[in-house]
Amino acid sequence: MKSDIEIAQEARMLPIKEVAKSYGIGEDDLELYGKYKAKLTDDLWEQVKDRPDGKLVLVTAINPTPAGEGKTTTTVGLGEAFGVMKKSAIIALREPSLGPCFGIKGGAAGGGYAQVVPMEDLNLHFTGDFHAITSANNLLAALLDNHIQQGNALGIDPRQVQWKRCEDMNDRALRNVVIGLGAKADGMVREDHFVITVASEIMAILCLAADMKDLKERLGRIIVAYNFAGEPVTAADLRAVGSMAALLKDALKPNLIQTLEHTGVLVHGGPFANIAHGCNSVRATRTALKLADIVVTEAGFGADLGAEKFLDIKCRMAGLKPDAVVLVATVRALKYNGGVPKDQLSTENLDALKRGIVNLEKHIENIQKFGVPVVVTLNSFTSDTEAEYEYIKHFCEQRGCEFALSEVWAKGGEGGIALAGKVLETLEKKQSNFKVLYPDEMSLKEKIGTIAAEVYGADGVTYAPAAEKALKRITEMGYGNLPVCMAKTQYSLSDDQTKLGRPTGFKINVRDAYVSAGAGFVVALTGSIMTMPGLPKKPAAEGIDVDESGKITGLF
Ligand code: ADP
Ligand code: MG
Repeated sequence: MKSDIEIAQEARMLPIKEVAKSYGIGEDDLELYGKYKAKLTDDLWEQVKDRPDGKLVLVTAINPTPAGEGKTTTTVGLGEAFGVMKKSAIIALREPSLGPCFGIKGGAAGGGYAQVVPMEDLNLHFTGDFHAITSANNLLAALLDNHIQQGNALGIDPRQVQWKRCEDMNDRALRNVVIGLGAKADGMVREDHFVITVASEIMAILCLAADMKDLKERLGRIIVAYNFAGEPVTAADLRAVGSMAALLKDALKPNLIQTLEHTGVLVHGGPFANIAHGCNSVRATRTALKLADIVVTEAGFGADLGAEKFLDIKCRMAGLKPDAVVLVATVRALKYNGGVPKDQLSTENLDALKRGIVNLEKHIENIQKFGVPVVVTLNSFTSDTEAEYEYIKHFCEQRGCEFALSEVWAKGGEGGIALAGKVLETLEKKQSNFKVLYPDEMSLKEKIGTIAAEVYGADGVTYAPAAEKALKRITEMGYGNLPVCMAKTQYSLSDDQTKLGRPTGFKINVRDAYVSAGAGFVVALTGSIMTMPGLPKKPAAEGIDVDESGKITGLF
């Protein structure tokens, strides 16, 4: 089998104008970025906004191995399969971050014959949205430090600055830095921090904003620091809103590209699901629902993170109602959850599979708590055996759960017809009674407790003194009604990445919390999760190259 990038580079792409045309989008409503990428204009939204919505299908997964379990691959392959079946379907995905591209996991364009193209563009700079978000984030930081330097009329306490600089790279050395060293003219010395761009509140705001007006209101509400009296200082107080919004003008528009089989893909925004809310923009999803009968979208990492936040944060805020959930499992992740070391995942091991399948069981139960019908799919690997496949199929059927094998990685859309058939059947026959897990009125601690108990299976929650203090302050400031965005490891249902399978008898440890008042959620940091990842011992970057003709190799 060829590598992902080889398959992607052999693709015969259609001009994006033609893909757009197949969804009834004319050239006037496209802002072209070359021949194969385009942004959708605001005018297009005005034309389509009163149409009825299509069906919304969320793709999520069990707790993954560090390589990823094929949610993007499945999302893309499912969209392609609907194409093969002549159904009207479109895909909505997040934009990849450079952090994982150069780290362990690789890009986020799918894999095998279920990919989004142009793959290199998508994985690297794409249409510049992340650059715009990074710039807006760092403009706010620069304005803040300049305000302190120029007399500090707002009385910002330099020890209580909340706003962090950002960069779209895994760079652990920037987690904790000292800025302003040098002479008086070089700024006020203070401790500062970087987060990865996908964890920036600007990313979350861009993804949750309905339109430019809403974007500006949200930007204005960002709490950048507290003053010496302990009161919040906002981006609006710093008069930073207009200039940030100007930088984000084009980034706010969804991007259109295509799959290897020419299904349209709206790729827009990209918060990680472990340290942020984990799904593509509301604008892209809303537009997609107006353009096709079926929208297939993905939420990051396992269903404990991405799906929970998609449902409890994005759907709650945007009034979206998912009609079905596709839960992706792989033999390798089930064995990993059964305690098999990473280098032995391709050997048949039914005992480990039986130990690990409790992880799938918990995720099925969790999705059912949200009232949305579930279809389980096994993303087929060439190393899977018949016995392993039969065991998983039987396990799902015993639980009254729809099951289909997915071979989209090896075969593209054709390999997804069984899955697409099950999804169609589910959309026709099973009613979605979607409900969020907790009401707005619950206290922040009750919300965290509910997620911990219901979704993670924890016995309770412990709070470090910093977290106690922060949650009390956030509640007193009037933000107690916001939903909670948990920052937690993706490898375990618990906050300890070594507890695999379906752990019991553990508590979730909340070490700190902060309010993202612009995004509209409260972030609870658990375990040792970091908002600026690091690179591994052997980064993927070492294998990436470009030749004299401009051909890139080694991206995956
Ligand atoms: P996720 O979205 O769940 O993180 P991806 O779809 O990005 O996962 O897939 C992660 C990696 O695994 C990609 O490099 C992809 O090519 C590879 N992959 C996915 N499905 C398969 C498969 N069935 N067989 C082999 N490799 C696969
Ligand atoms: Mg993915």
